[in-house]
Amino acid sequence: MNIIFLGPPGAGKGTQSKRLEARYGIAQISTGDMLRAEVKAGSEIGQEAKTLMDAGRLVPDSMIVSMLEKRIQQPDCAKGFILDGFPRTVGQAEALDEVLARLKSQIDVVLVLQVDEDALADRIAGRFSCAKCGASYNDVSKPTKVPDTCDVCGSHDFVRRADDNRETVASRLASYRKETMPLLPYYEKKVKVAFIDGMAPIEDVSSQIDTIMQEVEQITQK
Ligand code: AMP
Repeated sequence: MNIIFLGPPGAGKGTQSKRLEARYGIAQISTGDMLRAEVKAGSEIGQEAKTLMDAGRLVPDSMIVSMLEKRIQQPDCAKGFILDGFPRTVGQAEALDEVLARLKSQIDVVLVLQVDEDALADRIAGRFSCAKCGASYNDVSKPTKVPDTCDVCGSHDFVRRADDNRETVASRLASYRKETMPLLPYYEKKVKVAFIDGMAPIEDVSSQIDTIMQEVEQITQK
C-alpha cells in the first residue's frame, strides 16, 4: 500500500503518518526529516538545503527526487510507504510517477488533511519533540504529562525545529498554496483522493483515516 499525505505545514501529517506506519507496517518517509538529518550531518546536500529550509522555501526538485528514489527502494518499503511532505510540486509528482512506473509500482491513495489556516501558526509555534526518541508534543494541545519529561522515554531533552516560527510559517504556507495545491487536480485525475477534517481531535482524525484505508484495502484486494 503506497500512500501520499498532503496538507499544509502543521496539519498533522507527521503525527498521522507515524500512526499509519505503526498500524499497517509500512514505512513513513518524511523528506523534511531526511533533509534535517543531512543538515545535522553537515553533508553537501544539508548545507545547500539549510538556507532554503530556514527561509521556509522549497529545496530544488532534483535534490529531493533522487533522495526519495533511493529511499523507496530500501527493504523497509517492501510492503509500501507513506510519503509525508513529498511530492510538493507537480514536477516532483511527475518524477515520482516515472520512478514508480520503472519499479512497476503505483500510488494507491492520496490523503489530504484539511485545516483552518488561521490555526496553523499557533500549532507550529507550539511544536517540540523529544531529542532522544522523537515523540512529538505541543505547548498548548499536547504538553508532556510531567513538565519537561518525555511521556515515552523519560528524557528531559527536547528540540524545536529551526523553521517552526511565525515568520517562516507565512512563506511555508505560500509555497503550499502555490506549489503543492496544484497536486490535488493532478492526482484527482489518476487515483483516489480522500479529504480529512484535520481540525478534529487526533483520535477522530485517525478514525477518519482508518475508514478510508478500509475502503482502499477492499479496492486494492479486488
Ligand atoms: P517538512 O518537515 O515537511 O515541513 O519540511 C521542512 C522543509 O524541508 C520545507 O519547508 C522545505 O524547505 C524542505 N522540504 C521538505 N520536503 C520537501 C520537498 N518534497 N520538496 C522541497 N522541499 C522540501
